[in-house]
Amino acid sequence: MERVIIIGSGPAGLTAAIYAARASLAPRLFAGYQYGGQLMLTTEVENYPGFPNGIMGPELMEQFRAQAERFGAIVENVDVTEVDFSRRPFLVTTDSGAYESDTVIVATGASARWLGIPGEDRLRGSGVSSCATCDGAFFKERHIVVAGGGDSAMEEALFLTRFGSKVTVVHRRDALRASKIMADRALGHPKIEFVWNTAIDEARGEFRLESLLLRNLVSGETSELAADALFVAIGHDPNTALFAGQLDLDDHGYIVSPDGVHTNVPGVFVAGDVYDVRYKQAITAAGMGCKASLEAEKYLEELDAERAAGGLVVAS
Ligand code: NAP
Repeated sequence: MERVIIIGSGPAGLTAAIYAARASLAPRLFAGYQYGGQLMLTTEVENYPGFPNGIMGPELMEQFRAQAERFGAIVENVDVTEVDFSRRPFLVTTDSGAYESDTVIVATGASARWLGIPGEDRLRGSGVSSCATCDGAFFKERHIVVAGGGDSAMEEALFLTRFGSKVTVVHRRDALRASKIMADRALGHPKIEFVWNTAIDEARGEFRLESLLLRNLVSGETSELAADALFVAIGHDPNTALFAGQLDLDDHGYIVSPDGVHTNVPGVFVAGDVYDVRYKQAITAAGMGCKASLEAEKYLEELDAERAAGGLVVAS
């Protein structure tokens, strides 16, 4: 029987684990096989306070984890396959067993979105990728295309200039969504070109990516662009399939919460990008993990008091 189970191992989940562990709750955190969340797929993080010279995303997550484990958090690299929030204690099933817990903190984050065009799936790993850190080095002196107009796309494009002979950003509008600092850097980079108002309709190539079918969204004109790599950086979708029917979700699949901490099930808390449609920063996710853990702690105190009084075992 656990007191706190945390699902997810990005900044939100691991911060929740640090706080719960320091509160002597020995939280059990299911990190997933793809441990560490989105920062494992990023390069240098320049805006996380405390690192004036920046830090690599994976290294930052290693440090989060070490800090949580130092205080007694149990971190397991397994996936959660099922949850049952209709019973008390809650039941969380993983590949390695089933666990009961008084509270659960959901911090499952979000996953990279794909374009959903012909050829994208087939050529994934053969020129099509969503992770510049993982795959950029395969494309030395090649023509690399990045899809998207947000911070992720700019970050990927800038990183990929280390490898590619040229990086072309294809964006569906004529203005970037990215923050000014990232946009300015990319717009001013001599190796980066922009193709505006354009959709990518198909990834072409027999065994590996060879070209992209482009469509100008203003004129409707189509053209073919020779490309050795396509990095898709068009945002993320929340990882909530596990919670459908158990927690309230909005139309886009994000967990609904009145205050960014509580869910519709007392004792189940939310933190990070799985709720946050607006900020999606490592630091905001970490802050939410802290809040979720403090609320879980308070909930457990009330639960223990009720149990001691022999009353209801469901705190509000
Ligand atoms: P985002 O801000 O939602 O941007 C997604 C981009 O992809 C937008 O330009 C969007 O076009 C485009 N897009 C979405 N769906 C598309 C589709 N089906 N086909 C073609 N284009 C599509 O996502 P993000 O860049 O991943 O950033 C998410 C959050 O993380 C943001 O808050 C961002 O500031 C933050 N972030 C920060 C940093 C940093 O500070 N270094 C780095 C990465 C991410 P439209 O513009 O037309 O909507």
